Amino acid sequence: MQIKDLCTHCGYWTISTIEHDDINATFTCTHCKNEFQLPWNTETRFLIRSLRQSIKKRTKEYPELRELKNPGDFIKVEAKINQTSN
Ligand SMILES: [Zn+2]
Repeated sequence: MQIKDLCTHCGYWTISTIEHDDINATFTCTHCKNEFQLPWNTETRFLIRSLRQSIKKRTKEYPELRELKNPGDFIKVEAKINQTSN
């Protein structure tokens, strides 16, 4: 499966692939090819689900994330200045 995620290695929003063999889940950034593993368990599945949900909110905030379509695509999102202080 694929998710859009902020890669901590290259610092871009990219498409990550997730493959699992029932023991480990391997997350791979399709841009910089950085990969890491997490145990394939309830926690990881929950993490993936919350990543999928948060991307919807992120896309509303940063419409440029819609441009992220194909493996290897990468987008730098400028952090918006938080207008509400405190
Ligand atoms: Zn990356």
